[in-house]
Amino acid sequence: MIADLHLHTIFSDGTYTPEQVVAEARRLGFSTIALTDHDTVEGCRATAAACAAANLEFLSGTELTAEQEGHEIHILGYCLDIDDSRLLQEIGRFQQVRQNRIREMVARLNHLDVPLEADAVFELANCRSPGRPHVARALVKAGLCDDLDEAFDRFLKKNRPAWVPKFKMSAAHAIELIHAAGGVAVMAHPGLNRTDEVIPAMAEAGLDGLECFHTKHSTATSEYYLELADRHHLLVTGGSDCHGTSKGKPVMGSVRLPYQHVERLKARAAKRKAAAAHPSA
Ligand code: AMP
Ligand code: ZN
Ligand code: FE
Ligand code: FE
Repeated sequence: MIADLHLHTIFSDGTYTPEQVVAEARRLGFSTIALTDHDTVEGCRATAAACAAANLEFLSGTELTAEQEGHEIHILGYCLDIDDSRLLQEIGRFQQVRQNRIREMVARLNHLDVPLEADAVFELANCRSPGRPHVARALVKAGLCDDLDEAFDRFLKKNRPAWVPKFKMSAAHAIELIHAAGGVAVMAHPGLNRTDEVIPAMAEAGLDGLECFHTKHSTATSEYYLELADRHHLLVTGGSDCHGTSKGKPVMGSVRLPYQHVERLKARAAKRKAAAAHPSA
């Protein structure tokens, strides 16, 4: 049995529907997938239903945008209760932050005489967690940029003229929120962040695992993080971070996580659920 624990859909900045993600996972021979859309759990119900119909195992998930010591960190939450009211309330606040940020980015574009309308972005995004890739796609769709790379290079990359910083929750808060919803907290793609110095503090804050296997990790990088996970007694996870066709060709299948890691993750989730149900115990 093999898993992909990092996938995006149209419920954030991916291009696949839940049904398309599940069909791809089945075609590629996966037994287990987790959905990890940015700052939302909205797609989990539909993906769970599609998995049940295709006889795949589904783990609920999300990818929370957080920060630690000034660095942007993505925290994956797994096996969480997607109806947890505090979780929904908190991610709702951050979805609002994302929506306001889209308006600000559009205002900056307009200031640069790029006539994009915020509604065009919202219409295209059609989800509660819009982000820069949606602005980039809207720019291409309106004929204002030739492709997504041009949109990011000219306008949207960090410190480019239409870039707007994103208000983020602290990593400790993200971890606590995931735990309170009975979930397991994992630091996403540490090899992309290159901020390993934050890992001990996050482990101290209750981080459960490290995403050692990721499409953009080389074999050496994965091995390095496997050792780091071992040293800090952290679980090991992995996933493709597939966004469908929104960043070129789909990368699902590039990471195939052995099932033993899923078993350990589920065992930790059972403990987190028991603790969330009896916070004083
Ligand atoms: P946001 O959450 O709005 O800051 O957007 C982040 C998303 O934009 C992530 O999925 C990134 O992978 C994507 N992204 C960042 N830089 C680029 C780029 N140069 N080209 C395409 N996508 C990018
Ligand atoms: Zn994304
Ligand atoms: Fe990420
Ligand atoms: Fe991701």
